Amino acid sequence: STEPSLQKEDSDLRDSNGFKGHDMLAPFTAGWQTTDLHPLVIEKSEGIYVYDVNGRKYVDSLAGLWCTALGGNEPRLVAAATDQLNKLPFYHSFWNRTTKPSLDLAKELLETFTARKMAKVFFTNSGSEANDTQVKLVWYYNNALGRPKKKKFIARAKSYHGSTLISASLSGLPALHQKFDLPAPFVLHTDCPHYWRYHLPGETEEEFSTRLANNLENLILKEGPETIAAFIAEPVMGAGGVIPPPATYFEKIQAVVKKYDILFIADEVICAFGRLGTMFGCDKYNIKPDLVSLAKALSSAYMPIGAVMVSPEVSEVIYSQSNKLGSFSHGFTYSGHPVSCAVAIEALKLYKERNIVEKVKSVSPRFQDGLKSFSDSPIVGEIRGTGLILGTEFTNNKSPNDPFPPEWGIGAYFGAQCEKNGMLVRVAGDNIMMSPPFIITPEEVDELISKYGKALKATEERVKELKSQ
Ligand code: PMP
Repeated sequence: STEPSLQKEDSDLRDSNGFKGHDMLAPFTAGWQTTDLHPLVIEKSEGIYVYDVNGRKYVDSLAGLWCTALGGNEPRLVAAATDQLNKLPFYHSFWNRTTKPSLDLAKELLETFTARKMAKVFFTNSGSEANDTQVKLVWYYNNALGRPKKKKFIARAKSYHGSTLISASLSGLPALHQKFDLPAPFVLHTDCPHYWRYHLPGETEEEFSTRLANNLENLILKEGPETIAAFIAEPVMGAGGVIPPPATYFEKIQAVVKKYDILFIADEVICAFGRLGTMFGCDKYNIKPDLVSLAKALSSAYMPIGAVMVSPEVSEVIYSQSNKLGSFSHGFTYSGHPVSCAVAIEALKLYKERNIVEKVKSVSPRFQDGLKSFSDSPIVGEIRGTGLILGTEFTNNKSPNDPFPPEWGIGAYFGAQCEKNGMLVRVAGDNIMMSPPFIITPEEVDELISKYGKALKATEERVKELKSQ
């Protein structure tokens, strides 16, 4: 299941804080949870820690939602925001009017991304808006080229690309589709590249990648290459359970996509700016995208902002055809919001000044090896990850095909044990996800591992108990 925890355990740990039955229709939350359970109300952050309204301190092992890369209370980001608020809290970027922070950030982003040359940047408020923008850009591009049939998108099972109508359609998670009459008909989904779960007996990672590339090619041929506009992928899948690509996967997928003149969109919303120990996921896996989506760590989440980067070839078509097609009639009031852009410029400056990529590279073996040392646990199916992102999947008998009964709520129980021990993790069914801030120190990594170990022990006991009943 990809549904978040619907269990009661975590609520019982939270002191009554007066917020039960609150007034928010809460995102990714079941209605009954807000009426019957205590919410966790976070009030303050400091480095990798957050504090709730009862003063309890937690390791924020997911960096908010994979985004507070520089952690809490970074004074330079606060100063960047307040300086800009004092000078110019808002002006827009429509009709060739704009602000200096938007222009400066666009320039800086193009210089920072070196996996290949990119030419233009479009600003949004979020990752979802970035991916919706990708679809409109690609359609505009194919309309400009006189290819009105080339409009379909291929995404992957278990991907997460956002929760607006189109980005949720691109996502390959049933929970995002079933209740909302999605996905939209122009979206197709191909295989999830999860070797542990889906490889055939005796198949190597390379052979698995070859089979998936062949499946992609067959899907394209079946649909007709003249109807397929773009392929979208996260370098490492995040919300679908933290799934790094198998060996040679992106090399083979890119070859297929290129063969049929299909644009490659890299959804770098989680992977960008150092998460994987490289500046971008594209650097790590040698991806040469036509379009890139960014958000989250772009501003270390201090202000909402997302962006789309466009290759010279795509932007050339869009620009040269603009006499014929008219304006790129797409944009948001807050596209290029000057305060968000000022904060993002400062975040990029801090990543460079502090050698954040090197820092992540040097601390991540401790994080990866330390947590993967729990792989022997009888309730762990797989622990997987790279850099500062890691997923744990609980299964019975170490098998991908033998899940625990969902009503046992094993993932939720583990999450509640973490919370009890002062750590917040992400729970989705029996998948646990972690992606701490880039600034995490070796000592803090040890603390995180120790809390994880305690929660795991308690969860092992729980499974034993349930099995004996
Ligand atoms: N793409 C990816 C890979 C993501 O992980 C997310 C958010 N978790 C999004 C897009 C959507 O971003 P947002 O929530 O800012 O709309």
